[in-house]
Amino acid sequence: MSSVRDSFIQVLLDVPIGERFDYRATPEQAADLAPGDWVVVPWAQTRKVGLVVALTTTTDLAEDRVRGILAVLDDAPRLPADWFGFLGFVASYYHRPLGEVALPALPKLLRSPPGAKARGSVFSRLRRRVLALPGAGDAAPGTPGAPGGAAREPGSPTSAGSDAHLPGRSPELNAAQRGALAQILASPGFEVHLLHGVTGSGKTEVYLHWLATVLARDAFTQVLLMVPEIGLTPQLTGLLRARFADQTIAVLHSDLPDAERAAHWLAAVEGRARLIVGTRLAVLTPMPALAAIVVDEEHDGSYKQQEGVRYSARDMAVALASRRGIPVVLGSATPSLESWLAAQRGRYRLAPLADRVHAGAWPVLRRIDPKRKAMVHGLAPETRQAIELALSKGEQALVFMNRRGFAPVLTCEACGWLSACENCSTFRVLHRQAATGGPARYTLLCHHCGAQERVPRACPTCGNIDLTPLGRGTQRLEDGLRELFPGARIARLDRDVARHRGAAREVIDAAHRGEVDLLVGTQMLAKGHDFRNLSCVVVVDADSGLYSGDFRAPERLFAVLMQVAGRAGRAGAASEVVVQTRFPLHPLFDALARYDFASFANAQLAERRASALPPFVFQALLRVEANKLETALDFLGRARAAGEPLCAVGAPSGGGPGAPGAPGAPAPVTLFDPVPMPMARLAGKERAQLLLESASRKALHAFLDAWLPRIAELKGAVRWQIEVDPIEI
Ligand code: ADP
Ligand code: ZN
Ligand code: ZN
Repeated sequence: MSSVRDSFIQVLLDVPIGERFDYRATPEQAADLAPGDWVVVPWAQTRKVGLVVALTTTTDLAEDRVRGILAVLDDAPRLPADWFGFLGFVASYYHRPLGEVALPALPKLLRSPPGAKARGSVFSRLRRRVLALPGAGDAAPGTPGAPGGAAREPGSPTSAGSDAHLPGRSPELNAAQRGALAQILASPGFEVHLLHGVTGSGKTEVYLHWLATVLARDAFTQVLLMVPEIGLTPQLTGLLRARFADQTIAVLHSDLPDAERAAHWLAAVEGRARLIVGTRLAVLTPMPALAAIVVDEEHDGSYKQQEGVRYSARDMAVALASRRGIPVVLGSATPSLESWLAAQRGRYRLAPLADRVHAGAWPVLRRIDPKRKAMVHGLAPETRQAIELALSKGEQALVFMNRRGFAPVLTCEACGWLSACENCSTFRVLHRQAATGGPARYTLLCHHCGAQERVPRACPTCGNIDLTPLGRGTQRLEDGLRELFPGARIARLDRDVARHRGAAREVIDAAHRGEVDLLVGTQMLAKGHDFRNLSCVVVVDADSGLYSGDFRAPERLFAVLMQVAGRAGRAGAASEVVVQTRFPLHPLFDALARYDFASFANAQLAERRASALPPFVFQALLRVEANKLETALDFLGRARAAGEPLCAVGAPSGGGPGAPGAPGAPAPVTLFDPVPMPMARLAGKERAQLLLESASRKALHAFLDAWLPRIAELKGAVRWQIEVDPIEI
């Protein structure tokens, strides 16, 4: 027992074990400390920044084992209780310790303990920094008006004429947009609106009008605009800068330099920034006066964190809105089937924008079956003609292929050697290094573990010096296009190009200025760029998404095809989309040809319902990695055995999905058999997984609450992790 005068604090730390850690505070420290304060504490042989969650006068630890606080970061902002409440929800939903959610939500600069001599205040330095938007300084092309122009005085954006007062020459909303905005404005409390409109239907304008209206209510309100990616859409930041010229805007994404990100974060936390625009991590930022949330491209996979705490920022944005009692708008041309179903069931409110703002025919979809065709560089004769036609008319063409690199694998035709990755169950991809003068250098790169090696001079197995690239990636496709269209100005965009700061933007800007005739690249080209002169889009290979082991593959394929198709014909001229596929009769293409998301989505939902797949059931995945596959599978087997008695009575564990329990009984939880992951070996570790599922989200979470402590007691040389609502299985 401790004496009554002792003071202890409970601290959250970024460690995967335990929940709260006790430290001793001196009476002086305790007098000033409150939950939400920041401290530096000793942890093993190092120091860590922690967040105070409670002050107590007792501790369960032996008193002599409780260590003292090293420092109180007294000019750090005290984080609000409702933020801890929200993060507590996130932590319990994903079944992780609160500290493991809360600390990574702070910018890296602020969660590392200040160096002994760099005492001065990092916080006050950050507060003095001017917040710069990405691309600030060099005005984005087409940005109307200058920042700091006319004072903003928005009236009711639903009334005609008031829009003229918005800076950056905001257009007057059309009838469909006004209808959507009226619906959103009609519900001041928590409500999820699904703004469903094809690319170019004016969703962004609806967001901006809504956010401006909310901001105009008082001088404190904050609004959050979430986007899948910022670096690639300078048009968006340019637009925001012009439209919200008199507001402080905080931009939050992980590519910002540390100090800049910390300065933006601090401005959001302290309420100085009123418009917060960011990627998935933005949802975990404390925003004291948050009144509205927009999640743009809500279906986008990048809202799902794929390491650490695997949260869905889209789902957590909805949870945050619900806790705050504020509206949230999810926008997409191809909503996730989860959101689509919620709208059909009336849980979300659908706000449709049926037509493009600038009327004009949709691109005509042509399906080209490459079977028995004279393919050149992966392109069928019809495909080559389509590109040729666009170029001859002085219009632009875009060739889309979702595989970067030169070729997906290198082989020796003499002995059959393949460029397998020694760490992973996959192949290393042949890449050409950007060569500045001199001959190009080729490397073999594993896209999964990042291991890289020079291309061997000769086959490592038989010594043959003729090694052959198999298949093609964007680099090789670009070479082919240069050969086929020697007069065309060609630019490529993929993650390899984008690795160099500013390079992606350069390609996009050049395309806008009309300095590029032919764009080739990956999904990066599909995102939100409005190319006015583009009249031909080619999808080189659409088939990997049609018949995949992953039941979400068609949903993703449809979304990306809609998105690339949406790049064409935006100026209203005739245009076409050419899809090369061996399955031209697949119904997905019929819906795509009509640009009919609803019929595609409804057909998918019918299939999902019939086979009891999400969103009709809820899933979690126990992932295990070990040095040997048997070790991982054995651990999962024991975890499954430990879980079986916890499944609701009547649940035939392993008996297949959708097995009904007794009427009135809690929905059963089904545990499937442990299996190796689709890519079993990654970075030298063997990986296996066990899927569990239930028709009731509540039952699934209750089961996890009971099960996870039992897994924690199991012995085994493994690392394990639970993932809730996995999107890749
Ligand atoms: P989305 O976000 O659905 O792709 P945007 O909001 O970006 O669509 O609108 C597409 C284009 O149409 C943009 O260039 C935008 O400025 C323009 N636009 C949107 N709404 C209107 C409107 N009501 N009147 C005129 N132009 C508009
Ligand atoms: Zn060989
Ligand atoms: Zn690898």
